[in-house]
Amino acid sequence: MEFLILLGAPGAGKGTLSRVLQKQDHFLPVSTGERIRHEMADPSSSFGLRAKPYMDRGDYLPDALALELFAQLVTEYAEADRLVLDGYPRTVPQGEHFLNWCQEQGHRCLACVRLEVPVEDAVARIEQRRVCSQCRAPYHLQNRPPKLPGICDLCGGRLMLREDDDSERLQRRLQRYEELTRPLLDWFAERDLGLSLDGNQPPETLRETLMAFLSREKL
Ligand SMILES: [Zn+2]
Repeated sequence: MEFLILLGAPGAGKGTLSRVLQKQDHFLPVSTGERIRHEMADPSSSFGLRAKPYMDRGDYLPDALALELFAQLVTEYAEADRLVLDGYPRTVPQGEHFLNWCQEQGHRCLACVRLEVPVEDAVARIEQRRVCSQCRAPYHLQNRPPKLPGICDLCGGRLMLREDDDSERLQRRLQRYEELTRPLLDWFAERDLGLSLDGNQPPETLRETLMAFLSREKL
């Protein structure tokens, strides 16, 4: 299996880039955040219960819990050839574990991509985000608006703000990102796997730069 890792503060555009890579390059997007929110919405999920206190504060999951989730996702996607990971690894210990695991299992980590956007741009993007309260389909008032205002195209559910997008939790997530995730890109860069991109560029431009980076060995 081949992996791409996406890093970026909340609102940096990881979801949009994932969708482009899925459409054009057959990378299956795997978002740990989406899965965690899904599990938390299911009262019978023990994982959701254990994750809730951290998510409620806008904190990262502890490494052990994040690893448990990743192991579960990888088992589910075992048939896929290429995955783009949004949300794991996102600390240096998780990165170390991930690369060791790839080596043991014969998987390949292609690159770790960081989308950089100024904080005020990220916050502005987040304010435009909505999610369906029933099927959790994501929307963006400007870039992916629903056909009818406030109503999900897929299931007719009511659109709402994402639970973790309120300003207090968002500030915490941005802070955790700076502390814990920013060092991870440097760590990957030391291993010649790190690529930093300007998240304000159009997704197609980002994709082209990424593809050029991935083909660097063949030059
Ligand atoms: Zn829906």
